[in-house]
Amino acid sequence: MKKLFLITALFFISGLVLAQDAIEYTLSFENAVHHEAFISMMIPQIPAGPLKVRMSRSSPGRYATHEFGKNIYDVHAYDADGTEIDIHQTEGDVYEIPKHKDQVKITYILFGNLVDGTYDGIDHRHAHLNMPATFLWAPSMQERPIKVKFILAPTWKVATQLKPDNGFYYAPNLQYFMDSPIELSDYRTSAWEVANPDGLKQSVGIVFHGANSDAAYTNFESKVKKIVNEEQAVYGELPKYDYGQYRFQIDVLPTNNGDGMEHRNSTCITNQGESLDKAEASVLSTVAHEYFHSWNVERMRPKTIEPFNFEHANMSDGLWFAEGFTQYYGNLALERSNIKSMDEFITTQGYYLNAVLNSPGANKYSPIFMSQRAVFVDAGVAIDETNNSNIFSSYYLYGDITALALDLTLRYQFNLTLDDYMRAVWKAHGKTEIPYQIKDLQKILGEVTQSPDFAKFFFSKYIYGTEKADYSSLLAHAGFVFTRAKADEAWIGNHRFTTSDGKVMINSPAIQGTPIYIAGLDAGDAITQMDDTKITNVNDLNNFLKSKKPGDEVKVYFESFGQDKTTTIKLANDPTISVVSYENAGKEVTPEIAKFRAAWLNSKVKN
Ligand SMILES: [Zn+2]
Repeated sequence: MKKLFLITALFFISGLVLAQDAIEYTLSFENAVHHEAFISMMIPQIPAGPLKVRMSRSSPGRYATHEFGKNIYDVHAYDADGTEIDIHQTEGDVYEIPKHKDQVKITYILFGNLVDGTYDGIDHRHAHLNMPATFLWAPSMQERPIKVKFILAPTWKVATQLKPDNGFYYAPNLQYFMDSPIELSDYRTSAWEVANPDGLKQSVGIVFHGANSDAAYTNFESKVKKIVNEEQAVYGELPKYDYGQYRFQIDVLPTNNGDGMEHRNSTCITNQGESLDKAEASVLSTVAHEYFHSWNVERMRPKTIEPFNFEHANMSDGLWFAEGFTQYYGNLALERSNIKSMDEFITTQGYYLNAVLNSPGANKYSPIFMSQRAVFVDAGVAIDETNNSNIFSSYYLYGDITALALDLTLRYQFNLTLDDYMRAVWKAHGKTEIPYQIKDLQKILGEVTQSPDFAKFFFSKYIYGTEKADYSSLLAHAGFVFTRAKADEAWIGNHRFTTSDGKVMINSPAIQGTPIYIAGLDAGDAITQMDDTKITNVNDLNNFLKSKKPGDEVKVYFESFGQDKTTTIKLANDPTISVVSYENAGKEVTPEIAKFRAAWLNSKVKN
C-alpha cells in the first residue's frame, strides 16, 4: 500500500491527465439471487501491443494463495464502437487481447458465495466484495487511477473507503484500490469524531449489515468507542486516515464465515450470527484486533510485504509482530476498557501459553519460521495432509506470548512498558511509513531500554531462537500463577479421538513427545482395548485413563491398516498449562502486586 503523501502529491500534480486515463469498472447485480455479478472494465489509452489482464492470486492481509481466477467466466472484449474482439485465456487466471485499438471494454461474470474477508458474497441481501477476488486488472497499468461504479439493487447503499467522485468511487492506483473492500447493502451506519493531541479530528464509524435492535446497536457502538480510545492511548494518537475517515465494515448473518481483515482505512469484519446482540462478544474481539492493525501492519509495515504482490504468496518474517503483538493488544484493549474482566484476559493468556509451550513446532522452530509458514496456513487450502501438528504453532499465539513476556520484562526490569516500545516503533516506522526489517525492531528495543545488549539477548533467544521466557516468574510480578494443574492426571496426548464402529479412532496426526506418538500409533489407528478394558467409545477411553496414574504402563490393542496390533503405552503427566489470579489461587495480592497490575491492566484513557 502506497504512502499517502505520494498518492496526494501525484493526484494534485497531474490530476487532470490521470483522470482521463482512469480504468473504469461498472458492477451490476441482476442475478444476485444466484450469486453472480456482471462486471465491465473499460481501459482507455492502451499502448500498442498485446494487452494482458489477470485475476489476483493473493489478497492483502491474507497470506496463502487463492485462485480467484476460478470464479470469473464469460469473458468478452469489445472495441470502443462495440465490436467484439478476440480475447484468449492464456493461463487459468490470465487473459490476453492480441489486437486492439486505443480503448477496450472487457466484460465478465463473477460468482461469489462466501462472506469473509477474502472472498465475495453476493446474494439478494448484499454484495460483500473483496477487491482481489472481484477485479481483473492490467499488470502493465498498475499506476493508473481506477474508478468504480455500482448499479445497485433498490435498497442498497455503498460502503467503501474509496473516495466518492461524481457517482464513481476513486483509487489513485491498483495497490490502493485493492485495499478498500466494498459492502453494498441496506446497512446501518454511524460515526463519531476522534481528536488527536495535535488537534486533528477524524471520523471513526461503523457500517453494520445484519439484524440489530436500537438498544443492541447503541450498546455495541459505545463499546467500539471504548476500544478505539484504549488503542489510541497506546500510541498517543490515531493514524492519519487518508480521507480523515476510518470505518468498521461489519457483516453479521447466519450464513457468514467468521473473519476479520485489516485495511488502511477500514476493516472488514464478518461473523456468523442471527443478530448483533448474539454475536457481540465475538465481533468486539475482532474489532479490538483489527483496529490495532491500523497502526501495526497497515502503517508499521514489514518490508517483506510492501509493496504487496497480487500474483503470488507474500511471505513475511514479521507476522509474530504484525499479528502476534496485535493479538496481545486486542485482548489487552478489551481488558483495559472493561469489556472483558481481568480473569477472562489472563485465562486467555493461559490458553495461548498452553497452545504454544506444549506445541512440538514451537519447541523446534522460531517465531520467524512460523511467520513464514503463513503462506501455507493462513486460509490455505490443500487436500493432502501436512505435518503442521508437529512443525507449526500459530504466529498469532506465539507472537502474543512473546509480547506478554516482553511487556512484563520491560515493566519489572526497566520500569518501561510494551506501550513505550510500540510508540517508539510507531514514531520510527508507522508515522513515517518506512517499512521495517526485524533488525529495526531489535534496534528500537535497544534504544527504548537503553540496552542494546538486552535487545540482542531478547531477539536472539525468543525471536530468532526457540527459547521460552520463564512465564512462571514473569506472571508472579502481577499476581498470577502459571500452573500445570492437571499434572497428576494420566495423559496419552491431545489427539482428536472419535468413536467409530465400536472403536476409538485417532483422527489427527500423532503429536511428537506424546505417549501415543512414542508408542507408534498414528492417525487412522483404532483403539479397541486397553489392558483388560474394552474401548468401544471415547467415554470408555476417558474413564480408563481416569483410573490410571502418570507413569503407568498400559497394554493397548489397536487396528492399523486392517491389522490387529498390540503395544505398550507409558502414560504421562497431563502437561496442560493454565494461568489463574492469586485471588483464585488463595494467595495474597500485596500492595506491590496490585500496583504492578494496575499499571499494566487499568485503562490508559485520560479523560
Ligand atoms: Zn490480524
